[in-house]
Amino acid sequence: MIFRQLFEPLSSTYTYLLGCTETGQAVLIDPVVNSIERDLEELQRLNLTLAFTLDTHIHADHITAALHLKERVGSRIAAPAFDALVCADLGVVEGTPLQIGAILLHPLHTPGHTDGHHAYRVTDGSADRVFTGDALLIDGCGRTDFQNGDAAALYRSVHDKLFTLPDDCLVFPAHDYQQRRVSSIGQERARNPRLGGERSLEAFVAIMSGLDLPYPKFIDHAVPGNRQCGVCPTDLPQELAAYCGRMTESPQG
Ligand code: FE
Repeated sequence: MIFRQLFEPLSSTYTYLLGCTETGQAVLIDPVVNSIERDLEELQRLNLTLAFTLDTHIHADHITAALHLKERVGSRIAAPAFDALVCADLGVVEGTPLQIGAILLHPLHTPGHTDGHHAYRVTDGSADRVFTGDALLIDGCGRTDFQNGDAAALYRSVHDKLFTLPDDCLVFPAHDYQQRRVSSIGQERARNPRLGGERSLEAFVAIMSGLDLPYPKFIDHAVPGNRQCGVCPTDLPQELAAYCGRMTESPQG
């Protein structure tokens, strides 16, 4: 399997490119609309055909590139069936792997950050990876105060589904704000300051309710745009224009 971890600095989002060496088919997990040219160049450089885009959840901090990539290269849009997006070509559910060539992505319903959030696990020979979205970050987790977020649900998702994976399964999060790129289930289960060690559900709920985070500055544009698989609003205020920047500059966008 060909594997790339790509970073989008505006929202500190990691996009993951997985390519099948046998068929040349590829999937992008959590592509970002303003990084579409970078992603297409990477696919071309690796001689891969984008079969699918796949989002972990309806993002509040950036707009997915799913729809624009479909328009540009004919990729199909996969997204959690839970969210019932009319623009999706395929709804993924836990228990039914998404196949891209010889790659099998196993969805894990991991609600709590959003109610429809899914992580995806891929085993490739001896390599075991889980793309944890915003359910589990390195030494952290996504916020639980918007989009039907629920701290108790997130605790159960992480403990019952992610922390039951093997210790050496590599954790690839949807974001990191300190340039960290990868962790492991064993490391997060032991050391994650919110969810690891002996941290109880009650303690975690108290931590999350005490965070007092600011209102997300892009959420009111991102969520409706992402419910349409990645439509940039036409009325973006100047200070948010960079979130859709490259697309408005692209003659084909
Ligand atoms: Fe998120």
